Amino acid sequence: MKLLVVEDEPGLRDMMTEVLKQQGWVVETASTYADAEEKIGLYEYDCILLDLMLPDGNGLDLLAELQQKGNPPQVLITSAKAAVEDRVKGLDLGADDYLPKPFDLGELVARVKSQLRRRQGGKRTLQIGNVELFPDERRAKVDGRPLELLHKEYHILHYFMTRPMRVIDKQALAEAVWGDHADQSDNYNYVYQQVANLKKKLKAAKATLQIKSVYGFGYKLECEDAGKPETDTAEKD
Ligand code: CA
Repeated sequence: MKLLVVEDEPGLRDMMTEVLKQQGWVVETASTYADAEEKIGLYEYDCILLDLMLPDGNGLDLLAELQQKGNPPQVLITSAKAAVEDRVKGLDLGADDYLPKPFDLGELVARVKSQLRRRQGGKRTLQIGNVELFPDERRAKVDGRPLELLHKEYHILHYFMTRPMRVIDKQALAEAVWGDHADQSDNYNYVYQQVANLKKKLKAAKATLQIKSVYGFGYKLECEDAGKPETDTAEKD
């Protein structure tokens, strides 16, 4: 899961980044409206934490641009602007939640978790074939048995399982798991290596999922027993 923290106050931005990274998420930051606008245009995020009062613009104006994206990220507004009109306007323009400043960092994490859960259909677990993921705890199981994964391997598997049967571009995967700067590297050996390790572990655990290479482009997640009904513990928000 990849987040963008849009916040011009350096101390707060650092604290937010730190606590969100502790959750194992990839966290990028923007300190100005222009910076946020550029990043949103170039990269994909799962959740954006949006301050409204920025030195060079109003965060609300970014919401319209975000809504034009194919798979718009969840947006959590974090703002000192406590006026009811701003809150209503933000939600009207497509924001998903609003957390007024000053806020508790624990509450921030809980709200982000809730947004990320919503992004995966309100489920606490993701299951495809005999592979099950528990995103809140960053754990995976195959046939009910724990699958030991390194941090990046877990994130790669999560990325694939939220995009089953779709061709995954290796650059998009690299940016989602390693962060925006991954695009500055022409060499994807680190991606190939981690995906190869994950494939080995899935195979050894007799997972019915397979990560197939798509020559010259990237990967695709396929499942042997794709027809099997999914089980999940749905959660009401
Ligand atoms: Ca601000």
